[in-house]
Amino acid sequence: MGIEIVLLGTGNPLPDRDRAGAATLVRAGGKTMLVDAGRAVCMRMVAAGALPVMLDTVFITHLHSDHICDLNDVVTTQWVMTQVPKLLPIYGPPRLGEVVAGMRAMLQPDVEYRIAHHEDLTWEPQYSVAELEPGVVFDDGGVRVIAARTDHRPVEPTLGYRFEHEGSSVVLAGDTVPCAGLDELCRDADVYVQTVLRDDLVRQVPLQRFVDTIDYHSTVVQAAETAARNNVKTLVLTHQVPTPPADAAAEWVAIAGEHFDGEIVFGEDLVTVTA
Ligand SMILES: [Zn+2]
Ligand SMILES: [Zn+2]
Repeated sequence: MGIEIVLLGTGNPLPDRDRAGAATLVRAGGKTMLVDAGRAVCMRMVAAGALPVMLDTVFITHLHSDHICDLNDVVTTQWVMTQVPKLLPIYGPPRLGEVVAGMRAMLQPDVEYRIAHHEDLTWEPQYSVAELEPGVVFDDGGVRVIAARTDHRPVEPTLGYRFEHEGSSVVLAGDTVPCAGLDELCRDADVYVQTVLRDDLVRQVPLQRFVDTIDYHSTVVQAAETAARNNVKTLVLTHQVPTPPADAAAEWVAIAGEHFDGEIVFGEDLVTVTA
């Protein structure tokens, strides 16, 4: 058994009935890890057979709201379901501490209510925050995680992650345009998960705020080129912009397939990919 990932949420910032927000579950070497915590992450975790209390770590790619808006739900649910205090390590880019401190301030009344109500709940939410630099950021029980800087400016710094276990590798790139850090992560990877955008479709929408998003996301073509350039085996398209209609998968895969010969997976919520 190498690495298993479950796409918990494949949506973009606009709410959708069938797509939760950005989040991916990673299972490897007995560890359960979460990358990003977008809208409805806890609901999708349950559907994937996981609960926040089962998490060993949380990794955050960047501090855009669609990737972190339900982190508070992960922290609170982990806290109320633990029978003894259990630390939840949260890793991410610089300024993560500022964001988590704000989230914790928001939760203060709830923490007071629950501790006052339950005699056996005597501790506050237990978590740690680490603001990461590029390099090996996790190495435990045969599972290694490497972070590299990606390019999603003006959101910076942002991080992509490469998970390695028993010779298998999976890259969760997050939101980024092609860049040297992304290439470094993707080199010879079994699976490369990229948040993608169709610039041909976005350009047709007469809303400058929407067209702006082309600046800092990989297009489907760019994601395919990154996969091909780095000898990736499987490319996974997720967080599609604009939100594709139900029958769009073949068209998106065909566009990527013009630039990449490997396997291409069109991401939908709860799709599982193994490496
Ligand atoms: Zn973003
Ligand atoms: Zn995003």
